[in-house]
Amino acid sequence: MTTTTDELIYLDNNATTQLDPVVIEEMLPFLTEHYANPSASYRFAAKARKAIDLARARLATLLGCEASEIVFTSCGTESNNAVINSALRFEPRGKHVVTSAVEHSAVLRPCQDLANRGCEVTFVGVDRDGNVDLAELEAAIRPATAIVSLMWANNETGVLFPVEKIAEICRKKGVLFHTDAVQAIGKIPVRLHDTTINFLSLSAHKFHGPKGVGAVYVNRRTRFRPLIVGGGQENERRGGTENVASIVGLGKAAECAAESLSEEATRVRAMRDRFEKRILESIPGASVNGWSAARLPNTSSFLFDGIESQAALMLLDRHHICCSAGSACRTGSQETSHVLRAMNSSGDGARRSLRFSFSRFNSDAQIDRAIEIMPKVIDKLRQLSTPARESAQILQEAAGIAPEA
Ligand SMILES: *Cc1c(COP(=O)(O)O)cnc(C)c1O
Repeated sequence: MTTTTDELIYLDNNATTQLDPVVIEEMLPFLTEHYANPSASYRFAAKARKAIDLARARLATLLGCEASEIVFTSCGTESNNAVINSALRFEPRGKHVVTSAVEHSAVLRPCQDLANRGCEVTFVGVDRDGNVDLAELEAAIRPATAIVSLMWANNETGVLFPVEKIAEICRKKGVLFHTDAVQAIGKIPVRLHDTTINFLSLSAHKFHGPKGVGAVYVNRRTRFRPLIVGGGQENERRGGTENVASIVGLGKAAECAAESLSEEATRVRAMRDRFEKRILESIPGASVNGWSAARLPNTSSFLFDGIESQAALMLLDRHHICCSAGSACRTGSQETSHVLRAMNSSGDGARRSLRFSFSRFNSDAQIDRAIEIMPKVIDKLRQLSTPARESAQILQEAAGIAPEA
């Protein structure tokens, strides 16, 4: 580890993760000497082709599926779009989609686009802890439903949906089921062959692989029509010359993830739990979003009374702490988190929340620093906002008094 990473406390691992150095090492030869197009027929190309085969096998091991069920894509967003589009173009009865109100924008936006093009979309809501009601979900499925798409783990709160059960409900109803598992892969065990999931999306940069490469699992008995057509790459399921180095990186990251699943469940979880406990003890008016729900081992979404998340992010940044308000995709815009609004429609929790997400590259010393800094930052923000409130009150009173004066 370099000194700069020692100084920086990166607690935003649901936004993206650090590349594992062994992943970089595995990728490098494919950015230098092994540059052949894998589709070429000479032996020089066989190295690239074999490397892609190995990456596919490694990912299949992590997912508990067959290598032939994996299609490499350019990102998690592409995987989601490809699945949703495929389901609607194939299903002649496909006039309706079921998803949830707390999906990542990479599912919500394609669904909203469908709605604009005349397809009906049901956005199932969640309770205060971020859970879906399975009876409500089942009731939302109609004869015209083409696909149900629900995330495995929520990127903002870490709340887990019972996707195996949901997939079973969908199978009984004869409806396709897709899960955006971008946040689940590498953090919790997944065995696709023990499930009735038809499609699953993932992205390498969320589990210490490179950005700009993802995959979609397509169950071998499920029909799939590609989103991107061109050359016959990926067994006619995704056109475009393979991003060999990145696919190699994804494969290596998948192998590392399989090896470190127990560390995620123990060391990373212990780190997160310790952070949560200490923050709740040391900061009054703090609570955890999704507290009673089953959650990922690495995510903490906090609500702090009397603060504005954007101001908190700026102060934490000065202490070299990276975290986020809601999801990273929204940072910089004033819009609050749709996930936290769905969980708490009446309150203003969405404006007062901060997400911390940990990884196996975080050290206990970094967590100690964050535990030390957080109460000071929250205290400072509350002090700053008090005079503002008082002066607003004074102004209001003055305005009320003015006519009499
Ligand atoms: C990050 C993320 C995505 C998008 O993946 P990209 O590879 O960045 O396109 C989709 N869904 C969830 C839940 C995510 O966290």
